[in-house]
Amino acid sequence: MDKLTEMYLEFGIKKEVLDTASKVEAELKERFEEIDRNAEYNQLKVIRAMQANRVSEACLSGTTGYGYNDMGRDTLEAVYASIFGTESALVRPQITCGTHALAIALMGNLRPGDELLSPVGKPYDTLEEVIGIRPGRGSLAEYGITYAQADLLSDGSFDFDAIKAAIGDKTALVTIQRSKGYQARKTLSVEAIGELIAFIKKIKPDVICMVDNCYGEFVETIEPSDVGADMVVGSLIKNPGGGLAATGGYIAGRTECVENAAVRLTTPGLGKEVGASLDALKSMYQGLFMAPSVTASALKSAIFAARLFEDAGFTVVPNGNEERYDIIQAVTLGSADKVIDFCRGIQSAAPVDGHVVPEPWDMPGYDAPVIMAAGAFISGSSIELSADGPIKPPYNVFFQGGLTWQHGKFGIMKAYQNVMYK
Ligand SMILES: *Cc1c(COP(=O)(O)O)cnc(C)c1O
Repeated sequence: MDKLTEMYLEFGIKKEVLDTASKVEAELKERFEEIDRNAEYNQLKVIRAMQANRVSEACLSGTTGYGYNDMGRDTLEAVYASIFGTESALVRPQITCGTHALAIALMGNLRPGDELLSPVGKPYDTLEEVIGIRPGRGSLAEYGITYAQADLLSDGSFDFDAIKAAIGDKTALVTIQRSKGYQARKTLSVEAIGELIAFIKKIKPDVICMVDNCYGEFVETIEPSDVGADMVVGSLIKNPGGGLAATGGYIAGRTECVENAAVRLTTPGLGKEVGASLDALKSMYQGLFMAPSVTASALKSAIFAARLFEDAGFTVVPNGNEERYDIIQAVTLGSADKVIDFCRGIQSAAPVDGHVVPEPWDMPGYDAPVIMAAGAFISGSSIELSADGPIKPPYNVFFQGGLTWQHGKFGIMKAYQNVMYK
C-alpha cells in the first residue's frame, strides 16, 4: 500500500470511497487542465498589473490615523483597476463585506427619484433590506429610490421584452448579479452579461450597469468590466482575497461611479483620500496574488463534488460537465440527515475546528434551521472550504471554496462517505 492510501485510511476513508474518488479524478483530467490554463492566464494578469503599478516593498505596510497619502492603499486600488480594466477602484478593509460594497455602490450612485432595476430576478437576500424590498432602516426606499425587477424566463434566459418595458425615464442604475447565490437559476457567464449590458445601453445609454461579481472573480479570463459594466463589486473574503485578506470589499469601475461610492464609504469631500490601511495591506496584496490559483482549487473541488454525487444519483447544479461561471456547487440530498452528514463531513476535514460537530440552528433571517460547516482561518470566509444547507425540502446543500485542491478533495470525500456509508 502506498503512503498516500495509508494516510487516507488513517483518516478513516474507506477503500471503496478512495477508488471511486480516484476514478472520478482521472475522468476530470482534461477539465482540470483547462482550469489550470485559465489560472495561468489570470496569474500573469495579476503579476502584470502589480508590475505596471510598480508595487514595491513599501506598499506592503500601511498607515494609521486619517490615512492621508497611503501609498500602499492607493497602489492596491490601481492594481485592481488594471486587473479589471477600469479607470478606478475602491479597495478597502473598511468595506465590511460584499453587501456593504454593493450598498455603497448603490447609495452613492442613486439619487431621490431614481429607479433601480434588476433585470435578472430577485437580488441576493441581504440586498433586500438595502433596497427596501423588505423594510429596512435607511433603505434606498426610505430615500425615495424605487425598485423594479424583470424576472428571468423559465429556461433561465433574459426576458428582453420585460426588461425593455421596465426601463423608463427614472431608471438610473441596473444591478446584475452574476452568481446564482442561493437561487435555482444558473450563474451568468461574462459573455451573457455583456449581451445584457449591450441591450440595456442601446435602450438607455446613460444608465449605470453594476455587476455583483461575488464568487465570479478569476473563474473566467474576462470580467464583467471587460464587457461594458460600469462597476463590478465584490467581497475580499471570497475569490479576490485569495483566502488571505482578513476583511474588505472592492468596487472597480468608471471614475465617476467609484468616487460616488467613495463619498458614501467616507464622507462628501473626503472620498478616497482618507482611510488608514493599518496592517491590512500585505495580506490584501498577497491574497490577490494567490487568488487565481485559489479560485482554480475551488473550481476543481466543485466539479469533483458534482461528478461524485451525480454518479451516486443525486441532482447537482451545475452538473459535472457544464461550463462554470462561479465557484458555488449545489447538491440536492433529499433528506435532513444527509444535509447534516454532508456538512459534518466537510467540517471534519477542516484544519481549524476540525473537531467541532456542526448542528442546525435557527439563524436570524431564515425561515428554517440552517447547518453550516466552516473550519476557516478567516471567520466566515467562503473561499475556504465551507458548506451550508437549510433544513427544509428539497434538502439542498450549497458548498464552495477550498484554498487547495487537495483539501477540497479530502473534505468532499469525507462528506461523500458520510452521506453514502453511514
Ligand atoms: C456573498 C454574496 C454577496 C455579499 O454577501 P456578504 O456576505 O455580505 O459578503 C452578495 N451577492 C452574492 C451573489 C454573494 O454571493
